[in-house]
Amino acid sequence: MLSYLNGPGSDPFSYIYASRGWLSDYDPPRPFPFWINLEPTNACQLDCLFCSRQLPGRPVGFLDLGLAAEIYGEVARHPGTAVRFTGWGEPLLHPRIEKLAALAKERSIPLKIYTNGLELGPRLMDAFIEMGVDDLQFSMQGLNERQYLFNRVGSDYGRVSANIRMASQRRGGRGRPFLSLLTSVLERELEDGRPGDFVGEWLGVVDKVAVDLTSLNFVSDLPRVRPYLPLQSPGLRRGLCVDVFLALEVKHDGAIQFCGQDSRGLPEHTAGRFPETGLAEAWLGGRMEGQRDMVGRRLGHEGSPVCSRCFHNTDKYDLFKDLAAREGRTP
Ligand code: SF4
Repeated sequence: MLSYLNGPGSDPFSYIYASRGWLSDYDPPRPFPFWINLEPTNACQLDCLFCSRQLPGRPVGFLDLGLAAEIYGEVARHPGTAVRFTGWGEPLLHPRIEKLAALAKERSIPLKIYTNGLELGPRLMDAFIEMGVDDLQFSMQGLNERQYLFNRVGSDYGRVSANIRMASQRRGGRGRPFLSLLTSVLERELEDGRPGDFVGEWLGVVDKVAVDLTSLNFVSDLPRVRPYLPLQSPGLRRGLCVDVFLALEVKHDGAIQFCGQDSRGLPEHTAGRFPETGLAEAWLGGRMEGQRDMVGRRLGHEGSPVCSRCFHNTDKYDLFKDLAAREGRTP
């Protein structure tokens, strides 16, 4: 469920969302992805219930500035392709996050930064404003403080809320960074909160509020998570994966992955390693095409240890359409 303060056209990435190939007519794949999802680090301060980061896997590391510059060099040869700082960690924990962002903006690459908001101080916010970061997206959880703290173990709701308001106040009437806020809910949490109220609280502080569904599927085997499985949406139906036609994932160590769902860096989910493998080479290469055949053109999800737990691109948004109709809103 998406809500905009000033309409979808105000989104700096509306040019992507309005493109041919975005969510429809995407096969055959375009020569280069719409998005490069880049992981500054897989370090994080939190221990969220739903997060695949708690699965054993990769050691903690940080993206090297030189490697980032090389990645930007290839991205800049494809105008319109945007970079998102995301991955299995909190991007603002990268000790050179400001430089990492500035290097992208020096090459005029559209840049979106995801953050849990905890480490955003006024000085860093001013730097993001100054360098022209296009979108700063805050990630929350649930529809109220209680739900947030249940899911985001170790966080501080008051501090995050204050930092979002600080960012809004410092940005003021300037258009950039566009400020986005994403939350997600376990379906049963909807019995204890209304998405419309959440949107009402935040739209105006930020420019866009998105409400999605939380998935516990990737961590469903963990004893800590098992008791809460009944809280998530029952009966999700699997659909064809479109992610493999839209974005490419690059981890902090240069590993190029099919999508952002694998926190463990499994070889079965990896298309190559930058710079030995170029981004375009990986994007159009045999491993990526094999993945598209398996989950993007047929429902072969059981053939992958990651995809077999993934319910991306299902009819889950119908839930929000029903809900919005009940609350008398446009989804
Ligand atoms: S189906 Fe597989 S490739 Fe597609 S988003 Fe899910 S985990 Fe990634």
